[in-house]
This record gives sequence, structure tokens and C-alpha cells, in this order.
Amino acid sequence: MELSVGEMRSGSGRFFTGFIRDLTERQATEARLQELQAELVHISRLTAMGEMASTLAHELNQPLSAIANYIKGCRRLLEQDGSRNAPQLQGALDKAAEQALRAGHIIRRLRDFVSRGESERRVESLSKLVEEASALALVGAKEYGIEVRFRFDPACDLVLADKVQVQQVLLNLIRNGMEAMMEAPRRFLVVQTSPEEDDMVAVSVSDTGHGISKEVADQLFMPFITTKQHGMGVGLSISRTIIESHGGRIWAEPNPEGGSIFRFTLRAVQEEAVGNA
Ligand code: ADP
Repeated sequence: MELSVGEMRSGSGRFFTGFIRDLTERQATEARLQELQAELVHISRLTAMGEMASTLAHELNQPLSAIANYIKGCRRLLEQDGSRNAPQLQGALDKAAEQALRAGHIIRRLRDFVSRGESERRVESLSKLVEEASALALVGAKEYGIEVRFRFDPACDLVLADKVQVQQVLLNLIRNGMEAMMEAPRRFLVVQTSPEEDDMVAVSVSDTGHGISKEVADQLFMPFITTKQHGMGVGLSISRTIIESHGGRIWAEPNPEGGSIFRFTLRAVQEEAVGNA
């Protein structure tokens, strides 16, 4: 509880007034908020782990196939070579190729296991999709003194997208923007939609944070690139996979007001097209 005491002098003596405020509810709310935030971080880390396994599987499959092919090539060369050890070497190479293929199968199974199957594309309202994702991403924004603005262009509200996946991208971009502003004197986050050429819609998340550091600027969207002590560096690479699988692009640019702007595009759907469908 909080106690504040006031003193007052009157002709006959001194008077005191006391105000007692019950802080139980406020503290419970704060604790719940912190819990929610921890949960959010945990969930996004788990999701990131799953996606990371999928990325790793993809990246490992290529060198493994290459190894298997080189081994097969060596075996063929040995066939033409009449050396005494050839049969033994061929046997060893067969086994090596077999193992490389086996590793490839294990990895493919892992990929199938973590992938969520075919993504579901639907006509979605971009403003609704952004608002929902922001509600989750912006937990704690007020406490950190972050001011948030949404600017939706009603002329380009409908997109063709897997809602959950695109929300995951927004969550990554908004959390990154918030984290970049933690030490900044001005903390202003804007999420904006605007029409783009070729029937696309652009969504931008801009912050007034520390900006993109030179050391990662060229490889921002590569997996495991991070400047954060506890970062995994997979958020942006996952975001790129998602956006590109939607036929869009994602990129970053400096914010003229300081900080950075991350933009991505999605295929627009015209209102008339929905009516006709
Ligand atoms: P992580 O957040 O785990 O580091 P990400 O792939 O989301 O992984 O981000 C990679 C890196 O890109 C970050 O470590 C950071 O250096 C940089 N970055 C991402 N978003 C921003 C931003 N809004 N402002 C400045 N730097 C950013």
C-alpha cells in the first residue's frame, strides 16, 4: 500500500492527514503484464526454433547432395582405374554415399515434421491483420514510452495472404523496431500501408531507433546474423522466406528521421474481384 501524509497548521495546533492507497490491483496487473511478455518472448523463441530447424534442413540438404554426387563421381573414376585397391575403395565409397543419402533422408523428415504444411492463402483485410498482430507485438510499448501510429490506406486494404504467417513477419519487425528504440531519446513507431506498382501493397514498419549497424547491413536477411547478445538472428530470415513465398519483397532502408524502415510487399486484391468471385 502507499501512504502519503500531509501536515497542516491551524490556530490551535498541528493537524495531519493521511491517504492510504491499496496497490494490490496495480501490482497484480503489472505482474500479469510481465508474465505475458515473458510468455510472448518464449513463444516467439519456440516458433523461431521450429523455423530454424526448417532453415537448417534446407541449407544442409544441398551440401549433402553435393557430397553424394562427388562420391558417385569418384566411384566411376575408380572403375576405369585398374589399381589393386580399387574394389576396396569402391566398397568404401558406396558406404559413404549411402550414409550421405541417409543423413539427407533424416533431414527431410525433420523438415516435413516442422513445416506446417501448405500455407493457407485467403483474402484478408490488411488493417485488421496489422491491428491483431500489433496487439500482441506491442505488449509493454507504453511502459517503454513508445508512441505508436497506424496509417492505413483504405484504397489498398485487401491482400492475398496466409494471415498467421504475415502476422509473424509483423511481430518480428515491430519487436525489432521496439528493441532498437530502447535507448533512443525519441521513440516513435509507425506502421503504414500504401499502394505499390504492379498490383502490390507495401507495409512499412518504421522506428526512430539506433539504425542498422554497418556490420550486418549487407546480410540482414541471412540466417543467424545478429548484433544482439541474446539474439538468434533468425527473425528477418524467416520473414524473408514468408514474404518471398507470397510473391513479395522485403527490404530495409534508413529512416530520414533517424532509425530504420522495414518494408515488405504483398499481392493486392481489388474489391471488385472479391465481389465477382
Ligand atoms: P535478432 O532479432 O534475433 O537479432 P533478426 O533477424 O530479427 O534477429 O535481426 C537481425 C539483426 O538485424 C539484428 O540483430 C539487428 O542488428 C538488425 N535489425 C533488425 N531490425 C532492426 C531495426 N529495426 N533497427 C536496427 N537494427 C535492426
